[in-house]
Amino acid sequence: MPGFWQGLLANLAIVVAVVSAWTNTRSLLPFSAPLGRPLGFGIVMGLGAILTMLLPVALPGGLSFDLRAALIVNAGLFGGPFTGLVAGAVCLAYRLSIGGIYVWGGSLHIALAMALGIAAHALVAGRPVRRTDILLLALATAVIGKVSLLAVPDWTWIGLMPQTSLPTTMVVLMATLLVGLALHHDERQRALLQANAVYRAVTETLPDCLNAKGLDGRFIVANQATATLMRAASAGALIGRSDFDFFPPDAASRFKADEDDVIARGEAHTIEQHVSFEDGSTIWLSTLKAPIRDDRGRLIGLITHNRDITAKRRLEEDLRTTRKRLEDALEHMADGLVLFDAEGMIQLCNPQYQRLFPLTADLRHPGGRLADILRATVERGEQAAPATSDLGGWVEQRCRAILGTGERLIGLADGRWVEARSRHMSDGGTLILFSDITERKQSEEALALANQKLARLAATDGLTGLTNRRAFDEALQKAFARGGRDAAPLSILLADVDRFKAYNDTYGHQAGDECLRTIARTLQATLRRPADLGARYGGEELAAILPDTPLGGALHVAESLRRAVKSLNLPHSGGAGGVVTISVGVATHTAGQDIRTADELLGRADEALYAAKRGGRDQVRGDASALRAGSRGALKAIS
Ligand code: GH3
Ligand code: MG
Ligand code: MG
Repeated sequence: MPGFWQGLLANLAIVVAVVSAWTNTRSLLPFSAPLGRPLGFGIVMGLGAILTMLLPVALPGGLSFDLRAALIVNAGLFGGPFTGLVAGAVCLAYRLSIGGIYVWGGSLHIALAMALGIAAHALVAGRPVRRTDILLLALATAVIGKVSLLAVPDWTWIGLMPQTSLPTTMVVLMATLLVGLALHHDERQRALLQANAVYRAVTETLPDCLNAKGLDGRFIVANQATATLMRAASAGALIGRSDFDFFPPDAASRFKADEDDVIARGEAHTIEQHVSFEDGSTIWLSTLKAPIRDDRGRLIGLITHNRDITAKRRLEEDLRTTRKRLEDALEHMADGLVLFDAEGMIQLCNPQYQRLFPLTADLRHPGGRLADILRATVERGEQAAPATSDLGGWVEQRCRAILGTGERLIGLADGRWVEARSRHMSDGGTLILFSDITERKQSEEALALANQKLARLAATDGLTGLTNRRAFDEALQKAFARGGRDAAPLSILLADVDRFKAYNDTYGHQAGDECLRTIARTLQATLRRPADLGARYGGEELAAILPDTPLGGALHVAESLRRAVKSLNLPHSGGAGGVVTISVGVATHTAGQDIRTADELLGRADEALYAAKRGGRDQVRGDASALRAGSRGALKAIS
């Protein structure tokens, strides 16, 4: 057996060698089953404990000492109950197999170490093991070494001998600490490696570029996305190289200047970069650059995160172009345009819209409200005041009408006319187009006036200013139809200038025309009722329609006319009494009579006129058949 100190050191060396062997080889061992690693750990630690027992430290009195407990407690603490049990069981089996007088003391020591390790694991309760846990475990391990002496028959003097007790306790403490710290370090290392693998996986799968460069601008690490962006063969191909190896010199210098700026400022910074490649293609990047510092806060490099925002920039550019085009179109269109939302607030409008309503232009802008605009149009006199005194109610009702679909004509107080066409939008808003139609409206009115004038001219006789024959015929047809419906009598007069040919021959045509004009005026003056209509029937024949007038009344009017013409005293050497006279025929249509058409009525009047001519001229004659039917009295009264 080796000497006391050699034995202690040899035991310590075994413990250290076992732990070192485990930590360095465990990742190489093929542990695929879930319990493979805990089982392997337990067996290694158990075998390690057996090794310490094979090279024990001899104590006086035949006792021996080893560091089995340092391995078994740590197996329990770091590996958990299963590992602790395996390590303890392996060791215990060996101890029991070799027997001897100290078999129970040695077995108790192993059992206590196994229980202590498992209990320590339970106390740690899943959190990472700390250095203080290891220290406490080491102290407890030293204590159980002493407790196990209780099972030794002559413990009272051997176990408590200070020259053996102190070094062994210290070595147990040290060995347990060393094993614990080594396993603790190994555990942290493993966690770090795992975290590293996770970070690497995240970085590699990241679609954005992530890389770190040293202060000299050379890549230290880079992910695949960076390599793709830089058009490098692989992420590894970037390491140790700089932007100058991949970009044109001016671009690379610009990037380096950006990086130097971040390094100088010492804080993270986001910039947008326009990158041109040597093949002429370009992209836009949003780049975050942040300084990397070591544990002591010294700058050691720069981390860069790039996102390709080319598509976003293109979309923004397209949006700007589209908006500009829309604005240009809106600005240069002839009509005013406004877009209201469902609540009647202006979303969009063009300058023409504001120009159309100068008195309220200050309210017509995005954000302006229709209700305020309508109220102002009335208050500022831009539009005529509504008929109602309830301005609020009027505004509300107008808002509803305007925000619906339809067309309206707006008459402005300054005389202009604006046409508004509203259309509902799919989002509930309303688009309104305003056109200044003042000129169109004015031409329409002028056209209507011209048409009226034309119609008047078309119905007027040029010489006398009376209704002409065509209009007379129409009026007679209408009056005849109306008379038939109303059962009211309808009379007509036909007057013919006596011996007018001779008048023309004597005084000339111009005088004849003047004479006709004078007689026409006389006819107009004789017809008193508004419904009466005087007309030039043709040549020197005049006519009159007397609605709602019986034969007696018509004969009376005819006689008044005859007398009035005669009393004009227009000289006519060829006339009966040396003056111009007329003969008049009268016919009347009354209900129940046998006259069926206006032409027939005219025929009757014509017959009466010729009867008057035949009767010696300058006289009035009524429709003979009507007179026979009972109006003789009336004629008598006139003559
Ligand atoms: P009567 O008493 O039988 O009616 O004799 P008259 O000469 O009036 O009859 P006639 O029908 O023979 O002549 C009508 C004349 O009226 C013919 C024409 O010289 C004249 N006359 C018709 N129209 C016009 C006109 O517009 N201007 C003038 N100055 N004369 C007209
Ligand atoms: Mg005639
Ligand atoms: Mg005549």
